Amino acid sequence: MAATNGVTDKKLIVSFGEMLIDFVPTVSGVSLAEAPGFLKAPGGAPANVAIAVSRLGGDAAFVGKLGDDEFGHMLAGILKENGVSGEGICFDKGARTALAFVTLKSDGDREFMFYRNPSADMLLTPDELNLEIIRSAKVFHYGSISLIVEPCRSAHLKAMEVAKEAGALLSYDPNLRLPLWPSAEEAREQIMSIWEKAEVIKVSDNELEFLTGSDKIDDESAMSLWHPNLKLLLVTLGDKGCNYYTKHFNGTVGAFPVKAVDTTGAGDSFVGALLTKIVDDQSVLEDEARLKEILRYSCACGAITTTKKGAIPALPTVPELDAFLKAHP
Ligand code: ADP
Repeated sequence: MAATNGVTDKKLIVSFGEMLIDFVPTVSGVSLAEAPGFLKAPGGAPANVAIAVSRLGGDAAFVGKLGDDEFGHMLAGILKENGVSGEGICFDKGARTALAFVTLKSDGDREFMFYRNPSADMLLTPDELNLEIIRSAKVFHYGSISLIVEPCRSAHLKAMEVAKEAGALLSYDPNLRLPLWPSAEEAREQIMSIWEKAEVIKVSDNELEFLTGSDKIDDESAMSLWHPNLKLLLVTLGDKGCNYYTKHFNGTVGAFPVKAVDTTGAGDSFVGALLTKIVDDQSVLEDEARLKEILRYSCACGAITTTKKGAIPALPTVPELDAFLKAHP
């Protein structure tokens, strides 16, 4: 493999974790019980990131487990249609693909109901991992939902270790889903148990508050999460953009003004865009002007994703992104 100045010809971004189907009410502002019907919305943050990368022209693979059922094969088909390698996907004969019924009620409260008793993704074992794919990763990305139960937790830890040994950059977006954890304490403890392994970490403002126990979204609070192996810490701020922190500099990149209709997947789109840009050349993590340019591009992807319903249908392609950037100089 050619390697000069941190630039290599190995460009695969491997995203590890869950892929599932969200069922969302056909009408807005109702409780799950009141919903007259539901629409399928494929999702799962790691799968969204893999598709975001591929839409932007990057090389992506997804590693995880689906049910050997109609929904599992449908999800694998969506990855394939979007150009994501599915060599790391396995199918469970016994357990179903995970489902999540989710609604935003008129009082603004989100209501969730999960079908994970257990679902196939939770049953991925270390022995089922496609180590070849994991070893070919230049960037290995993951969340924290795969840490909730065994055997998936052990599979996650092994995959991370194998990727790291093979020289991958580890990227972590905890994607806190409190209702899936036995308790808030357990969530915090497990999310932090792998904190110091990652070299790139992205948290949202809410996750920053949860992890630090502080209600301040400021530099001091963000830097309390810093660790010596970290190269880049990002705090995304919804319609306010993001804050970035490296060993040598920190700052803010503003959001693009858009009419947001559904913010699902904005963070995954942002991460996919960032990884697509840093996989080629990690030296940008030490160059503030270039990093800011990449984060502007990532914020544009996040913003575009909020302008359409659903996560995957809203992830931009390069022509869409170029047109958006031209319209927002
Ligand atoms: P997450 O989905 O992980 O909670 P955010 O909602 O903070 O992450 O969104 C990620 C990025 O997407 C933000 O940093 C921002 O650049 C962009 N974004 C999100 N919501 C909006 C919005 N309403 N308007 C413009 N940009 C947005």
